[in-house]
Amino acid sequence: MAEPEPIIGPTGDMDPAAFRDYGRRVVDWIAEYLSDPTVWRVSPTTVPGKLRDALPASPPAAGESLDAVLADFERLIVPGLTHWNHPRFFGYFPSSASAPGILAEALVAALNNNALLWQTGPAATELERLTLDWLRQLMGLPAVFQGTINDTASVGTLCALAAAREQFPDLRLREEGLAGRADVPRLRIYCSDQAHSSVDKAAIVLGLGLSGVRRVATDAQHRLDVRALGDAVADDRARGVLPLAVVATVGTTATTAVDPVREIALVCGRERLWLHVDAAYGGAAALLPEMRWVLDGCEQADSLVVNPHKWLFVPMDCSALYTRRPELLRRALSVVPDYLTTSHANEGLDLMDYGVALGRRFRSLKLWFVLRCFGADGLAARIREHLRLAQQFAVWVDAEPNFERLAPTQFSVVLFRHRPDSDGAAWSGDPHELEHRLEAHNRSLLQRLNATGEVFLSHSAVDGKFALRLAIGNLRTTEEHVLHAWRLVQRLASQADPSSPG
Ligand SMILES: *Cc1c(COP(=O)(O)O)cnc(C)c1O
Repeated sequence: MAEPEPIIGPTGDMDPAAFRDYGRRVVDWIAEYLSDPTVWRVSPTTVPGKLRDALPASPPAAGESLDAVLADFERLIVPGLTHWNHPRFFGYFPSSASAPGILAEALVAALNNNALLWQTGPAATELERLTLDWLRQLMGLPAVFQGTINDTASVGTLCALAAAREQFPDLRLREEGLAGRADVPRLRIYCSDQAHSSVDKAAIVLGLGLSGVRRVATDAQHRLDVRALGDAVADDRARGVLPLAVVATVGTTATTAVDPVREIALVCGRERLWLHVDAAYGGAAALLPEMRWVLDGCEQADSLVVNPHKWLFVPMDCSALYTRRPELLRRALSVVPDYLTTSHANEGLDLMDYGVALGRRFRSLKLWFVLRCFGADGLAARIREHLRLAQQFAVWVDAEPNFERLAPTQFSVVLFRHRPDSDGAAWSGDPHELEHRLEAHNRSLLQRLNATGEVFLSHSAVDGKFALRLAIGNLRTTEEHVLHAWRLVQRLASQADPSSPG
C-alpha cells in the first residue's frame, strides 16, 4: 500500500505565526535597504551565467525553510543586481520605488485581487478609474480622457494603436485581420526618427510590420518636423497607403525632446489620423505649473501614455493609458467568452475590455498610496528638485572647457561628453577621424565610470555623436549624489585610458 499523503497544515501555506516573524524580518530588511542603498555597488561585478552556476539546476523536491531562501537571497541575488533604487543610479530613466508604493505592493500581493471584471474586483476597478482621474487632473488633461492601467507604456501604445485601427470599421480588421487580404491598403503609422522602439513593436504585433511605421525627420532640437509629417502623409496617400495614426513624443528617450503636439494635432485633425502621445517619462513634469507647457496640445490627442512607475515613485509596474475614445479601445480589444458574461448593468465597467491581458494586477492601489502620502505638492516638489539637480549638473559641465553638452537640459536628463584639450595635436585633424576618437574615448569613460560601481549612467546618440546620459529621477537622489557623479566623471576623464591617443 502506498504511503498516506502528508498532511498539509490547516492553511496549506506557511504557518501564520511564522509568517508574522518572517514578515517582520523582511520588512526590517527592506527598511535597512532603503535607509542607505549606497552600501551596495549600483551595478554588480558579475558575468553572464554566474548566478545560474551558483544555484541548483533543478528545484528542491522537499520544501526548504524560508531561512535558507532568505540567506541565498542576501548572499547571491542582491549582490547580483543593478540597483535601480540606488540614489546614484542615473541610467536610462530612473524609476524609484517609494515606501508607500512598496507597502501597497505587499498589500496587493496579499489580496491577490484580479479585476478582470467589475464583479471580480469592484473596489479595484473603481480605484483604477479614480486614481487615473486624479492623475489626469494633476497633469491638466481634460475630463474626457478615461484611463486604464497597463504594465508598461509599450503595451499602452500597442492598445492605443489597436484602437486607432477601429476608426475604419469598414475595413473589418478586428474580424478578418490583415493577412491574405487584397482589399486592404497598406496602413501607416507616423512618428519621429527619435520615437521609442515600442512604436515599432506595436506595428509588428498589429500585423502592420516595421514598414508600416514611417519615421519622420526631426528639426535641430530633435522634434518631429511637422512639414515633413505633412509631406509624408501626402506622399503615402498618393501611393494608395492609408495613413492611420501619428505617435508624438513628449520627452524622447535619446534627448528628452518634446514634439510640437499642437501643430501635429492640426495635421491629424485635417487628415483624420489618430493622435497618440508617448509621454511615458515627460508627462510627469506636467505636475509642475511651470512645466505644464510640455503637454501643450495634448488635450487634442486621442490617447496618451504616462508611466507612474517612471518618474512618479510608484514601484514597477504601473503605466497609465488615457483615451478620449474609450469606446474604440473597447471595440478593438473586447472579446467576452460565455463564462465571463455578466449583467448588462456592468456594461463598460469591465477593465478586461480595455487591454490585451485578461488578468489584471491591482496596480492602482500603489498609485493611490503614493498620491495620497506625497500629495500633489509633495510630488511636484520632488520632481522640481530633480529638474534643479539636472540644471546644476549642466552648469558644472558648461563651466568646464573640456566638456560639452550635446542637447538642451529641459527635463532631468543631461547629455554631455568629454572633449579632451583640443590644443593637443592628437585631438585635432580630420573631423571624421576626430569624431571616431571622441566616441571611443567617451565609450571608454562610460565603461570605466560604471565599472567603479559608484554610479550608473547610460548613453545615447545625439546627431550621430556618442553622449553620456545622466538622468535624475530617484527619490533619494540629492545634490551630494549628483556632485559625486560629476567629480568621478572629471577624475576618470582626465586619467589616461587605452583608447586615448596621448
Ligand atoms: C520608458 C519609455 C517607454 C517604454 O516604457 P515601458 O513602460 O518600459 O514600456 C516608451 N516611450 C518613452 C518615451 C519612454 O520614456
